[in-house]
Amino acid sequence: MEPFGLQDKETALRLVGWEAKWPKLVAGFSTRKGGTSSGYYTSLNCGLHVGDDGDAVRENRRLLAEANGFDFAAWTCAEQVHGGAVHIVGSETRGVGRLAHAEAIKDTDGLLTDQADVFLASFYADCVPLFFYAPDRCVIGIAHAGWKGTVARIGAEMVRQMGERWQIAPKDIYAAIGPSIGSCCYEVNDVVANRVRDVLPSRAEQVLEAKDDGKYMLNLQETNRILLLEAGILPGHIEVSHLCTSCRTDLFFSHRKEAGKTGRMTAFIALKEG
Ligand SMILES: [Zn+2]
Repeated sequence: MEPFGLQDKETALRLVGWEAKWPKLVAGFSTRKGGTSSGYYTSLNCGLHVGDDGDAVRENRRLLAEANGFDFAAWTCAEQVHGGAVHIVGSETRGVGRLAHAEAIKDTDGLLTDQADVFLASFYADCVPLFFYAPDRCVIGIAHAGWKGTVARIGAEMVRQMGERWQIAPKDIYAAIGPSIGSCCYEVNDVVANRVRDVLPSRAEQVLEAKDDGKYMLNLQETNRILLLEAGILPGHIEVSHLCTSCRTDLFFSHRKEAGKTGRMTAFIALKEG
C-alpha cells in the first residue's frame, strides 16, 4: 500500500501510517499545489536556489510550515550538495536557512535532531527523500539521496550517527523512502551504473535493468532500501513510496521531465511539543 497519502488540502502528502501511530509526529512531502509562485515554479516551489522570486518562496515555506502546525521560525534546512554528510540540529541551528540559501547548514544532505518544534526540511525534484524516526528516543531525521548521495551511503550514515549520538540500535529505527523518480523514468549511463555496482556488488541486478542502447533503468528507491537493510534496519520498519515524480508532474516538480526548469518539493519531519 502507498504509505504517502493526500490529505484534505493538496499541498502535501503525509506519512499517514506513521502519523496515526505516533500522534506527535508530523511527516510528509509537499506537492507543487497551493503556493504563490508562477511560471516554471507554479506554485508551491520551496527551493530558494532555482531562480524563483525569493519572497514567493519564503511565503510558500511559511504556508507549508503553518499548514502542518509549525511556526515558520522552526523551519531548518541545509545546503544540499549531493554528498553523504549529516548534521545534528540543536537549539543553535533551529531555523537556519529558512530565509536565505546562503545561511543554510553548509555541505550537508542529512539532518537529525532530538528537539521538538524543529521542522526539518529538505528539497527535491526527483531525488529520493529518506525519512527516519526512532520513537524510543524521539529522534527524527531527513536525508536527501539522489544517486550520488545514495552511493555515498547517506542512509547508512544517518543510522550510524543515530547510534553514535543517542545509542539507538538500527532495529529501533523506522525509515520511509518518499516520492521520487521511479525506475519507469530514471535512465542512467554506465558511470552511474558502475557506482551502483560498487555499493551493491552482489545485488546490482536487482536495481539496474539494462537497455538495448547501453543505458540502464535504475531503481533508486530499492537501492536505498537495500542499503538501509544492510545498515540494520528491519524490513518491516521500512516504508517505500511508489509515486514517481517524473510520471506525476500534475502533483510534483520533476527535474528530468521539465528539463531542469522547475521548482522543488519539501520533505519534512518534525515533532510537536508536549
Ligand atoms: Zn515514472
